[in-house]
Amino acid sequence: MEQRALLTNLRGIVTPDPARAWAVDYIENGAIALENGRVAWLGPSKELPSEWQNANKLDGKGRWASPGFVDPHTHLLFGGDRSQEFNRRLQGVTYAQIAAEGGGIRETVRATRKASLEELVALGEERLGKLARKGVVHLEAKTGYGLSLESELRLLEAYGELQRRGWSLDVTLMPAHDIPQEFQGDPAGYAKVVAEQWQPELVKRQPGVARFCDVFVEKGVFTPEQGRQVLASGKALGLIPRIHADEFGPTGGAELAAELGAASADHLMFASDAGIKAMAEADVTPTLLPGTTLFLGMRDWAPARKMIAAGCRVALASDFNPGSCACLDPLLILRLGCLQLRMTFEEALTAVTLHPARSLRRKDLGHLQVGALGKVLLWEVKHPLELVYWLGETYVPETIG
Ligand SMILES: [Zn+2]
Repeated sequence: MEQRALLTNLRGIVTPDPARAWAVDYIENGAIALENGRVAWLGPSKELPSEWQNANKLDGKGRWASPGFVDPHTHLLFGGDRSQEFNRRLQGVTYAQIAAEGGGIRETVRATRKASLEELVALGEERLGKLARKGVVHLEAKTGYGLSLESELRLLEAYGELQRRGWSLDVTLMPAHDIPQEFQGDPAGYAKVVAEQWQPELVKRQPGVARFCDVFVEKGVFTPEQGRQVLASGKALGLIPRIHADEFGPTGGAELAAELGAASADHLMFASDAGIKAMAEADVTPTLLPGTTLFLGMRDWAPARKMIAAGCRVALASDFNPGSCACLDPLLILRLGCLQLRMTFEEALTAVTLHPARSLRRKDLGHLQVGALGKVLLWEVKHPLELVYWLGETYVPETIG
């Protein structure tokens, strides 16, 4: 990008404002001044300061500008896919039956363990490319389909390589995503190994790659006590906790996230009222994954309205993964936020831009106010509302920056 450039001829600019929790500014006939890749000024073209009048112009071609999407919850790297299982579930076979036959997540773990570093990096680039074409400019990505020290390390190495190749992603360590076959029937033993041996080893072997740690607290997986052990170990290593919480039943995951000062608690279809209040007070970002509810054919949409009323800054994410949400489409998540979680368009837009960036501790992403990174999406629409209103319509933004 030019050191100084003026994005002009915009039909409008729509952007959240980090200074105001849910406020969204609409600026018609706008312009955005960019200096060294950051927003230096934005406003109506007719108010453009004189110093910018002669800057190099980027033609917005009458389109609407928005900040790039930030996806704060993906399981980006895994081997294989589960489309056959998906069809069997449609034929009435239950998830439990498939798991009992050794399928489900175990199939993904087998395929991921077999994948080489080069194969994982290639898969990552293919998926990141698809997301980038749909306007995702930054995302969070977890380990957790290796479930062995060697394989989790390979996933971490692959993420490090993707970062070196210039992809904008934050990495989360999640060896406690499930209980591997080697520890079947012994979640406590596995949580202890992850907390005391694997996490320290992974951080030591790939320093600086991961910023966050995560654990799946759920009935039949890890208890809140085991989750606390894993996340406390991550915290001691300098990682910031996130948590898979209250997805299939109330387990106290939201409360645990608040207690530990986690950056986010994710899923939360069954979060308790006390948990919602605790998240608001501790400034935990509730991260809702409506694509997963849809993909699993469930009816239990997360209580977004209740969380907003309680003062939470809700974020939306894809939960991209092979078993419960094979979705690389940020617009679908935005639409589900409106249609199923009953968020207004402005709330849902804020929840796929500003609030996820905030939960990833990225102040300069998720909005276009002065100082933000100039990662701008240009949409060929008469008004941004069209992005959710024309259901199923494909909109492909051009990304600047
Ligand atoms: Zn997840």
